[in-house]
Amino acid sequence: MRVVVNRRLCIGAGMCVLTEPEVFDQADDGRSVVLDDDPSPERYDRVREAEQACPAGAIQLVASS
Ligand code: SF4
Repeated sequence: MRVVVNRRLCIGAGMCVLTEPEVFDQADDGRSVVLDDDPSPERYDRVREAEQACPAGAIQLVASS
């Protein structure tokens, strides 16, 4: 799984960071940055939770080929 954040859509709500701080962080401008864009499978559930929790629809999960 690849994790992508569209920073133009991100409104800095921080839900992703609260849900999975090993994968997401907030930059100085408050918007999300991806710390680990290829997380290990044990993190998938929380990454999916973060995607669902994002109020801006800014998180995209791409299946690895
Ligand atoms: S939850 Fe969505 S809007 Fe909020 S910081 Fe994360 S990516 Fe941005």
